[in-house]
Amino acid sequence: MSKRDPNNKYWDEALETMPREELEKKQLEDLKEIVKFAYDNAPYYKRSFDEAGVKPEDIHTLADISKFPFINKTTQRDTQGVGSFLGELCAVPEEDVVFISTSSGSTGVPTMSPFTKQDFDEFQDTESRWFWQVGMRPTDRYVHALNFSLYVGGPDVIGAQNLGALCIWGGTLPSERLLFILQTYQPTIIWTSPSYAWQLGEKAKKAGIDPKKDLSIKKIIVAGELGGSIDATRKAIEDLWGAEVYDFYGLSDIFGACAAHCEYHDGLHIAENHILVETVDIHTGEVLLAGEVGELVFTTLRKHARPLIRFRTGDIGWIDNTPCKCGRTHGRIHISGRKDDMFIVSAVNVFPSDIEAVIRDLDGITGEYLIRVFERDFTCKYSVEVEKNSDNPDSDEAIAQRTSDALKARIGVKPYEVKVHPDGGLDTRSEHKSRRIIDERKLDYSI
Ligand SMILES: [Zn+2]
Repeated sequence: MSKRDPNNKYWDEALETMPREELEKKQLEDLKEIVKFAYDNAPYYKRSFDEAGVKPEDIHTLADISKFPFINKTTQRDTQGVGSFLGELCAVPEEDVVFISTSSGSTGVPTMSPFTKQDFDEFQDTESRWFWQVGMRPTDRYVHALNFSLYVGGPDVIGAQNLGALCIWGGTLPSERLLFILQTYQPTIIWTSPSYAWQLGEKAKKAGIDPKKDLSIKKIIVAGELGGSIDATRKAIEDLWGAEVYDFYGLSDIFGACAAHCEYHDGLHIAENHILVETVDIHTGEVLLAGEVGELVFTTLRKHARPLIRFRTGDIGWIDNTPCKCGRTHGRIHISGRKDDMFIVSAVNVFPSDIEAVIRDLDGITGEYLIRVFERDFTCKYSVEVEKNSDNPDSDEAIAQRTSDALKARIGVKPYEVKVHPDGGLDTRSEHKSRRIIDERKLDYSI
């Protein structure tokens, strides 16, 4: 149980406000240790470092990590079950492992993430830090409305309990049950996906419950989709609930939330004591400077069960190491989207999140959308489908034109077509995680 002063804005002030020079010194010590630990104990790293002609002793500065080979999801899949069921990336004997989570496997074979007791405890301490950062205190009532089955985000609730909040392990309840809990127990904080936060608020209104007046939710944590970092989406959810929305970012390969918004919502502070961040060119793998957009590559500095050395996350974004107004010195990541979701139209990189930002900002439409990516004459194109509000008197043509103009202005390339449906005409409303992009391309665009 936390004995912290609730008026202190930091969970771990010394760590969170550590001067960067000191933070980087600590990162370097941990980096040297974990790379050596990985080399000595995980068969995969021994082999791959030897093949690349690098040794743990080659690390003298943080930048020296760039001499080491990358790994990615495929490396994880290929090494799982080899040697032992934990696989060749695992660096501890099975008896030291106390927990494994596994990914959904929606894009291939599920990958597992093992934790030692210390890994797990440090993971939960990091979660407590994020919860405290968004303002959770022992007086709060908290609903964890995330999947508990196998998913690494489930145990994050323990971080809230360790902080001292009253926790309700909601999981993925049907919305009627969840609304009943929100009405009966009047919790103050909830964590769910951004699309579900939106759907749940709408469902409440349809059931005659005003989320602003009849419920006590003051803060909504969102993760799993980009919405929380898209200003227009975040504002729409905030207006619906009369609550503040905080975006969290996690990787099932590492742990629940690895990065989180502070009260300024300007990028997500990443736990740099646990993760060394690099940004690399998506094509060449060349290391980019802070502030340049590329693929985020993470090296875990403290996870001993399965260290990840230069893991290509598949997420595109940039890192900002400039001081944040909140006083925290850990860098902030800004995510544009998944590499797999990005498409290129007339030499412009387009992310579904950019399209969402435009759609959510336009008046007279519901904010629901569907993106189709396809080819015409061997060129990549995209079309967008939207829903018009039932009280909008404008013609479909006028709405399509306005949407198309706004997309062109923001993204730089016009959609091939904008289709307008009536309110409720799109089948994109789903519980918890929505599918809003359909890729109909036949050519190979792998990058
Ligand atoms: Zn901050």
